[in-house]
Amino acid sequence: MSLITDLSKSRYCKGFQCPKMLWLDHFKPEEAENVLSETVMENGNLVGDLARSYFGEYSLVDFSYDKSEMTAKTQKFIDAGAENIAEAAFMTDGLYCAVDILHKNGDGWDIVEVKSSTHLTDIYIEDMSFQYYVLKNCGINVKRVFNMHLNAFYVKSGELDLKGLFKMEDCTEQAAANYDRVAETIGAIRDYISVEAEPERDIDTYCEKPYECAYKKYCGRHLPEHSVFDLAGMQAKTKYKHYHNGIVSYEDLLANAKQIKLSAKHRRQMEAILNNAPDEVDKPKINEFLGTLTYPLYHLDFETYQQPVPEFDGISPYQQIPFQYSLHIEHEDGTLEHREFLAKEGTDPRRALAEQLVNDIPKGVCSLAFNMSFEKTVIKRLAETFPDLADALMDIHGNMHDLMIPFKEQSYYSAAMQGSYSIKYVLPALYPDDPELDYHNLEGVHNGSEASAAFAEMTSHTPEEIAEIRANLLKYCGLDTYAMVKVLRKLKEAVR
Ligand code: SF4
Repeated sequence: MSLITDLSKSRYCKGFQCPKMLWLDHFKPEEAENVLSETVMENGNLVGDLARSYFGEYSLVDFSYDKSEMTAKTQKFIDAGAENIAEAAFMTDGLYCAVDILHKNGDGWDIVEVKSSTHLTDIYIEDMSFQYYVLKNCGINVKRVFNMHLNAFYVKSGELDLKGLFKMEDCTEQAAANYDRVAETIGAIRDYISVEAEPERDIDTYCEKPYECAYKKYCGRHLPEHSVFDLAGMQAKTKYKHYHNGIVSYEDLLANAKQIKLSAKHRRQMEAILNNAPDEVDKPKINEFLGTLTYPLYHLDFETYQQPVPEFDGISPYQQIPFQYSLHIEHEDGTLEHREFLAKEGTDPRRALAEQLVNDIPKGVCSLAFNMSFEKTVIKRLAETFPDLADALMDIHGNMHDLMIPFKEQSYYSAAMQGSYSIKYVLPALYPDDPELDYHNLEGVHNGSEASAAFAEMTSHTPEEIAEIRANLLKYCGLDTYAMVKVLRKLKEAVR
């Protein structure tokens, strides 16, 4: 297999994070697992396309697999006196980059790198430093280097205002200061990936940041079945520190518990797994929690989605927009009623959702959510947006209880929860092998991310497909609150 030492800016950034990623991309791509969601990529494309108009008219270098065609077209635009060139392509000595926007600045040019996130990160600076290096080596007079990203504080009001939506950060100094180091990094990456025999490289924090690596499973294949990386709630840098000190397995960790100041929760997690311990129940604590609930009890769960570029007035980039809820009303004798809301696709869902919610949940009743801080934030935001409904919404907010508490406080503890108190671990631990509560058995939508993506892109489907997606969303969200009913039942059984 021939070796590829050409570097585009994305390959450079990958190699900067860890050169072995490039080596594996070339020699063992089948070992990669998919970690970047389609939604993230689509958001990037959407924002990138919109940003092109920031400076007004622009000339676009169309994508071509033949990079020399793109560089020739860029040169043609430069010669013709273009003021703004989108996807301006440059190539020198096996290095290639396409600048999101090349903006004319007097007798030179500004590099503008567009990102769909709401803040500047170190890897973006590295990305821009590479572009600066390539353009300088192509003889371009680079005046300034900017990172253009979304402004988290922008609130849409009427027509989209690109100057308000985007924030420009001047990164010229950092990009220029990195020039010599970029040259060294390019050399080091090329040396690394030029070797045909698989190079040694131990796992470290660079496997997590700035992007989670797709080869983690492959590079971590030497780890024992239960390792420090399975400990819930421990910082990644602490896990890697223990790993590099040879404290890897649960047995290693317990043997060194005092020296590494292992928390009681982590010790409990490991001992429960190693001893195959039965579930532990703190009856007084669970009774105390159950005593705070009154009936009828309203089990509530929202689904939300985010728009990088807000479509509706009063929305900021990436603000959580509730579009669906499920409500199971549980009476004291155990009977259930179900209510639900799912917004019409392509519309601003907030008002209709808020109106139905305050109709479905009367004032003064007790509601329940799993990890209620999320539901409470959504309700509070709705109350701020619709002052006429604020009273009723804040009543729900004030009367909400959190079903996560008995698990977070470890009043109910099962080894199968693996030290976690998220519903993803709690539910299968309480109801193993129950097909009725198994999200894998659902069609199309199996988790919150899939629900958000399904709603966000629903308008691009046919009416038949939309009907199917809506049915899937209703089933998914309905299961969320039904699962809460079942979890509560298990708590009641445990103290009986
Ligand atoms: S898992 Fe870690 S060591 Fe392996 S390629 Fe990825 S970043 Fe490099």
